[in-house]
Amino acid sequence: MTKEQVEKHGEVIKWFCDNADKGVWRKVKEWELIYRPIFDVSTIYVKNDEFAEYRKAEADGKQIQYRLYNRREWRDCSVDDRIFTQQGAKEYRIKPDFKGGDWVVCKKCNTKHQLTSKDGCSLDSIFCTGCETTLFREDIEMWTPVDEELCIFVDEDKEEYFLAKYNRSSEYLEDIGDYYFNELDWDFVFPIEHIKNLK
Ligand SMILES: [Zn+2]
Repeated sequence: MTKEQVEKHGEVIKWFCDNADKGVWRKVKEWELIYRPIFDVSTIYVKNDEFAEYRKAEADGKQIQYRLYNRREWRDCSVDDRIFTQQGAKEYRIKPDFKGGDWVVCKKCNTKHQLTSKDGCSLDSIFCTGCETTLFREDIEMWTPVDEELCIFVDEDKEEYFLAKYNRSSEYLEDIGDYYFNELDWDFVFPIEHIKNLK
């Protein structure tokens, strides 16, 4: 075992010494559970403990969240053994890509859809009225405003709102007046279709 290997995989190696029967997950192209790891420096390994699902997801670039004491909300966290030893695996989740209320765009026809909270949790499929097909996770992406797009800007309490064009560059804003905004000026930006939700 080299110094590099210990630096890179020390935590996993230490764990594996006590839990060799459980194996470790190795990622080359796909994840695979192995029982005789060589702990190659250029390969990713994670412990096959009760948090393995989250360890793999984080290594794949996903955000992990833990449940707050109020039981309802989730907060972003990193896969940290100090946290993981105190709480059970059900106190964690992989952060959902979308949540209820988010505006998403159909990649096939550009129609915007606002997800219900049910869609946000499961997101099995939604029906697109634009191209009249059923959309799956890979068919949609998060709506983001583009320059010159007419948007609704809303304050933190969702009481005040303003209809204006979007402009990404705040330096540019000063020259052209108050009728262009971006995320820095208001708490929320919605597409114009959101108008039906406003009282
Ligand atoms: Zn569509």
